[in-house]
Amino acid sequence: MNLKSKKTDYKSKDLFKSAKRSIPGGVNSPVRAFKAVGGTPVFFEKAKGAYLFDVDGNKYIDYIMSWGPMLLGHGHKTVVNTIKKQVDKALTFGAPTELEVQLAEKICSIVPGMEMIRMVNSGTEATMSAIRLARAYSGRDKIVKFEGCYHGHSDSLLVKAGSGALTMGEPSSPGVPECLAAHTITLPYNDISKVSNLFDQLGSQIAAIIVEPVVGNMNCIPPIPGFLEKLRECCTKHDALLIADEVMTGFRVSSKGAMAHYKVSPDLICLGKVIGGGLPVGAFGGKKSIMELISPSGSVYQAGTLSGNPIAMACGLATIDLITKEDFLNPVIENTKSLCEGLSQAAKNHNISFTTNQAGTMWGYFFSTEAKVTSYDQVMACDTDKFKRFYHSMLDQGVYFAPASFEAGFMSSAHTKEDIDYTIEAANKAFSALQN
Ligand SMILES: *Cc1c(COP(=O)(O)O)cnc(C)c1O
Repeated sequence: MNLKSKKTDYKSKDLFKSAKRSIPGGVNSPVRAFKAVGGTPVFFEKAKGAYLFDVDGNKYIDYIMSWGPMLLGHGHKTVVNTIKKQVDKALTFGAPTELEVQLAEKICSIVPGMEMIRMVNSGTEATMSAIRLARAYSGRDKIVKFEGCYHGHSDSLLVKAGSGALTMGEPSSPGVPECLAAHTITLPYNDISKVSNLFDQLGSQIAAIIVEPVVGNMNCIPPIPGFLEKLRECCTKHDALLIADEVMTGFRVSSKGAMAHYKVSPDLICLGKVIGGGLPVGAFGGKKSIMELISPSGSVYQAGTLSGNPIAMACGLATIDLITKEDFLNPVIENTKSLCEGLSQAAKNHNISFTTNQAGTMWGYFFSTEAKVTSYDQVMACDTDKFKRFYHSMLDQGVYFAPASFEAGFMSSAHTKEDIDYTIEAANKAFSALQN
């Protein structure tokens, strides 16, 4: 493994200085700014397979994979060639194309419960539209979400959101009208009895529950047995809709998504990240009887100038074709498991309190004294100082982990056993340094 220790970051430093003059905080999405770990964000130039190359000539093993989409690794030949061919035909029409039909049919044939689907340009748009649809369908205003779950940055959903919002210490953002936030009820994730109690009291006013079936925005927290089942039960009993936000989990937790993996049926499903294969795509869909309310077949308004963009559709189709081949995902899941086990063992070797979670190709690590982290409160209680020191030690050794302890990690099919061995060896050194 030829990853030299990080030698210079002059260009990244210069670029960050310039960026801060013209872009708020120097970045176009908050977590990129390295606020949670300190130091200068790395500015990248190119990527190939499992590797990133920065503007100063350093090479890294990438465990962010653009926050999930790059399940095939960066620059997969088939995907890139497909895009190039499509670019020659047209960039956009703002009119129907066969590619949209193909991608819609493909996703509907794979994801259980997806009977109809509407393409959008981001996960934020998908969840925002799904909430509007659920409110229209049920004729109710209240929605239920869980603390630490992130569903994009639309007003109704930016209440106790995860990731960037947690990192920035702004559980709900200024600018979100109180009267709107008042319709969003937030409960602790994985707390079954609180869900039952709420529905006993307010069930008839609740339009929908929206949930990340595996939370990937407060690190990686899988559901405890019975949690998703209870959500389904309460929604069915009280005529509320269950919205699975699979923007991160879709095609990653299993090839059919997380809900299929846990055998719970949602009414609506939001997708994003992997379905665009690296281009901006989101989607929402589900039961036909609900989806037909969307305009123009129904009256719930939703639109997008670039929705179903041909380049993005071609990229998504090529990606989904490859990742839904039989036996594609299992080796990636196995590698994720090896990494988690290797990191845990390395921490144990150095008597560091540390634990990992894994759901398919998503994973996370915690500087926690708990045997298993399953709740928001446990995530909040983790040792952030140790995290920061560990993070920078790994970065200096050429391992690019997420720069905040509230983020999940992502594996791709491009990561090799050698990459994982190198990462574990680097972690051994980082843990050793933490002891001092
Ligand atoms: C990333 C994410 C979103 C938002 O998607 P964007 O494309 O960033 O708008 C929504 N929900 C979940 C679960 C996500 O992980």
